Amino acid sequence: MPIIRHAHAMLVDIPVETVRTDAVQSFVKQETIIVDIETDDGTPGRGYSYTIGTGGRAVLSMLHDHLLPAVVGQDVRRPEAVWRHMFSQTRATTVGAVTSLALAAIDTAVWDARCRRNGEPLWRAAGGSQPEVPLYDTEGGWLHIDTEELVANTVAARDGGWHGSKLKVGSTDPRRDVDRLAAVRDAVGLGYSLMVDANQGLGLADARALARALEPSGITWLEEPLPADDVSAHARLVESTTIPIAVGESLYSVGQFKEYLARDAATIVQPDVARVGGITPWLKIAHLAEAFNVPVCPHFLMELHVSLVAAVPNGRIVEYIPQLRAVTATDLRVIGGGTIVPDEPGIGISWDADALENLRVA
Ligand SMILES: [Mg+2]
Repeated sequence: MPIIRHAHAMLVDIPVETVRTDAVQSFVKQETIIVDIETDDGTPGRGYSYTIGTGGRAVLSMLHDHLLPAVVGQDVRRPEAVWRHMFSQTRATTVGAVTSLALAAIDTAVWDARCRRNGEPLWRAAGGSQPEVPLYDTEGGWLHIDTEELVANTVAARDGGWHGSKLKVGSTDPRRDVDRLAAVRDAVGLGYSLMVDANQGLGLADARALARALEPSGITWLEEPLPADDVSAHARLVESTTIPIAVGESLYSVGQFKEYLARDAATIVQPDVARVGGITPWLKIAHLAEAFNVPVCPHFLMELHVSLVAAVPNGRIVEYIPQLRAVTATDLRVIGGGTIVPDEPGIGISWDADALENLRVA
């Protein structure tokens, strides 16, 4: 029987490869919370979760104190039942970021074991919609990069075959954002996809003004223009601009996405598999969005999201941020700006055991 007999967790700090700054924060380090499980028939499963610099030890404590003891005895063939059982252990702290991140580390481990046991890759086990996924570049568009370099990076990304580039906005002087976008658009031409990301840095009036100013630049989406808990302001912004509004990296549950979708407050959703509590809820969000005819373009964690975007029919594109490179044995295969989704049994990540041990902090 594939019943979980052992469950362990550790914390690994992965340094950032690239300086990453946006309108509200810097990416300090990736606190990576790793959960290992093993079933009594000997099937291993490894899952993970992350923060970009704070709270990693809180997630680890939640796992050690409450979730790891409770997951022993659960059946990896039943991720829904495991997730519900885990959720019921954390009633006092749901919905919340720390709990969702802890649930995700367990849920991804359960999916990994389940897929390994079935000899199936995640993208097929979760739906198997398409085996290849397009990628866009985020690394060339951070806010601290000057305009000349921003233009050069975006031209290089286009010439490298990427399907688009994301540029951060939210400069203290909004004219800087508009001028930068115009310069980039001028250089890459109309056929190349440009996304902009304000990381919740604007108010409604400024977001409307920015959207109006950017409309001539042909923007594929405007991401997180406003604070994530202000659904009604997003609904009003969606109504007032032709630029699609993308939301989701700062939401932590299926219910929060339902609120956005039901109120026409998001044109594109960007669930983050770690922040929403794992693969089990991520798939629900994707299917819910499909019912609203809304595409899914997830946030970060490309190593997992390529398989999930490949699983669902409304999965569109994944952002290329190779943050796991320091602890994985193989890189994502990028061909012509897209990737052929990992096809080996499990969630598709080959970890480097020595590298993990070297960077382990708890
Ligand atoms: Mg973003």
